[in-house]
Amino acid sequence: MAELIKGKEVAQKIREEVSSEIEELQKKTGKVPGLAVVIMGEDPASQTYVNNKEKTSKKLGFHSEVHRLPESTTQEELLQLVDRLNNDDNINGLLVQLPLPDHIEDEAVIHAISPEKDVDGFHPVNVGNMMIGEKCYIPCTPHGVIKMIEHVGYDLKGKNAVVIGRSNIVGKPVSLLLLDRHATVTITHSRTQDLPGVCKQADVLVVAAGKPEMVKGDWIKPGAVVIDVGIHRIDDKLKGDVEFESAEKVAGYISPVPGGVGPMTITMLMHNTLQSFKFKHGLE
Ligand code: NDP
Repeated sequence: MAELIKGKEVAQKIREEVSSEIEELQKKTGKVPGLAVVIMGEDPASQTYVNNKEKTSKKLGFHSEVHRLPESTTQEELLQLVDRLNNDDNINGLLVQLPLPDHIEDEAVIHAISPEKDVDGFHPVNVGNMMIGEKCYIPCTPHGVIKMIEHVGYDLKGKNAVVIGRSNIVGKPVSLLLLDRHATVTITHSRTQDLPGVCKQADVLVVAAGKPEMVKGDWIKPGAVVIDVGIHRIDDKLKGDVEFESAEKVAGYISPVPGGVGPMTITMLMHNTLQSFKFKHGLE
């Protein structure tokens, strides 16, 4: 039976570190890091994510602001708010919750956020800097995946890592981070041939396909590390992209859903916001 990589526990440890660092910084500078989240419309999943970000940031000692805008807000109005928050000294991290309504261009908004405050790590400046190994914000979910693998002391050097999914927010950045840690990385997607056969070669398998329980136990190399990024609500239960029951019998380590990657994503957002504050005050 695989050992569980409990993201919830890893996240808790990092949150405690962030919280005590904020306390120290407040003593030193008289200030705390600030996070501003902008949300448009009433999408229930987005509302839940934003409420969690607000709750977590307040709990850890951040200055926290949520700007809730009606669905009818124009792109110009949204960009004006982003501009104001870019220039607000109390704000170190700024994000606009995606997806945005159809009349707003995601790219225009992402590009408008100051790269210094782009704690999601989605701005092309941060994406480019990550590619060449320069100072940047690492996107939260991929960063969380790597922290989970490191938490169990697994050495990625020279290992075969397979990533399912090539999205800009998960698949591509996680592949780059694995490569940086000297894994030999294969990126797969919907046109990959013999996906089960490719997965079977993986010492480390990161699954971000957005397809519930797609990866079965017989796709997994015995002893492999399996990180399941997927998250789906099915019959009121949360499921991942991996069929947990069959996979845990074969894998060496596996992250569960819920309690796996999910809690890491918000935690790494807090980490990035703290980092932004430290950059600004010359403490990093
Ligand atoms: P996207 O839909 O943007 O990307 C999915 C990727 O998976 C695409 O590259 C797609 O290939 C590939 N794919 C889809 N079907 C198959 C298949 N049958 N075989 C092989 N590859 C396939 O999703 P995201 O990257 O945004 O998210 C992935 C999952 O992770 C989702 O379930 C999402 O909810 C979850 N997620 C969880 C987070 C968390 O905090 N836990 C945060 C972010 C996402 P192609 O490019 O060819 O279309």
